[in-house]
Order: sequence, then structure tokens, then C-alpha cells
Amino acid sequence: MEKKKNHCIECTVSQCANHSCDENYCALDKIRVGTHESNPTVSQCVDCESFILGTPCDHK
Ligand code: SF4
Repeated sequence: MEKKKNHCIECTVSQCANHSCDENYCALDKIRVGTHESNPTVSQCVDCESFILGTPCDHK
């Protein structure tokens, strides 16, 4: 079954079970973003906390 795409959430993490696989979008209606740092300063400090390890998309 083709996963839906939420065009409001662009994402390139094809290893995530929630990735649309078809294009670079998330399939969820909403996601949660958080940080693993006490004082985040750059984008590398923040994470998608809705990530679930899934089967990588074959074509990516
Ligand atoms: S849950 Fe997060 S990491 Fe996973 S596809 Fe959606 S936005 Fe990307």
C-alpha cells in the first residue's frame, strides 16, 4: 500500500519507518521535534523524536 505524503513535512530520512519512500516527505500528520542538548545552537542539535527505524527505501 502506498504511504501518504504530508507536504508540510519534508524529510530525507529514508531509513525511517514513517518516511513516504515515494518522495522526500513524512507520512505522518504531525511529528515531534526536540533536542538532545541543554542549549541548542545549530540544526544538528535538534532531532525528529517521531523517528522509528524501518526498512530503508530501496530506491534511495
Ligand atoms: S518521523 Fe521524522 S524522521 Fe521519520 S519520516 Fe517523519 S519527519 Fe522524517
